[in-house]
Amino acid sequence: MSEPSIFTRILNGEIPSEIVAQTENAFAIRDIHPQAPVHLLVIPKTQQYRDVVELAAGDPALLTELIGLANTLAAEHADGDFRLVFNRGANAGQTVFHVHAHVLAGGLEERHL
Ligand code: 5GP
Repeated sequence: MSEPSIFTRILNGEIPSEIVAQTENAFAIRDIHPQAPVHLLVIPKTQQYRDVVELAAGDPALLTELIGLANTLAAEHADGDFRLVFNRGANAGQTVFHVHAHVLAGGLEERHL
């Protein structure tokens, strides 16, 4: 059994962070270092999958659940439009190896990537 990830510890209430939404198998928090006016993280409750490639192979329904939660949050916290970013691997900037989607919204019209 691996050590609990930082997100598991947040889910368990061991590290303070407001859980802004949750579904049966996923939850969302605000990123501690926001990169956009709205920057949320959508995270499976299980830390079984390290990144989006593992998640897609292992539980595509859970990946779909994450995208649905991201869509709901973008409607609640912005105008419904959003960017969804999964970093996969340290060389792409991944720092927490418990798969999570970055939901970025608000004021992104000038950005193309
Ligand atoms: P990654 O770089 O792995 O794609 O994304 C990890 C994200 O988690 C980063 O954007 C980072 O700011 C965020 N993060 C790391 N530790 C914490 C924390 O303790 N609380 C919150 N809310 N976000 C965190």
